[in-house]
Amino acid sequence: MHAGREWNVQPVSEAQALKAYLCPGCGLEVAPGVAHLVAWRADGVLGDAADLAGRRHWHTHCWRLGAR
Ligand SMILES: [Zn+2]
Repeated sequence: MHAGREWNVQPVSEAQALKAYLCPGCGLEVAPGVAHLVAWRADGVLGDAADLAGRRHWHTHCWRLGAR
């Protein structure tokens, strides 16, 4: 559970982190080569494909702090 919703969360290792992403938690960049998390909704009404397209990359600590 996160922010009252069900989420699928997968860790992204340093070796897998090849691109920079914008963390929705703090609005700062998740730099390439930094281990982090990718999360997507598990309860989306539009189906799994739409949920996967809406994946977000989070700093691990930002995910733990929680979304707002
Ligand atoms: Zn962050």
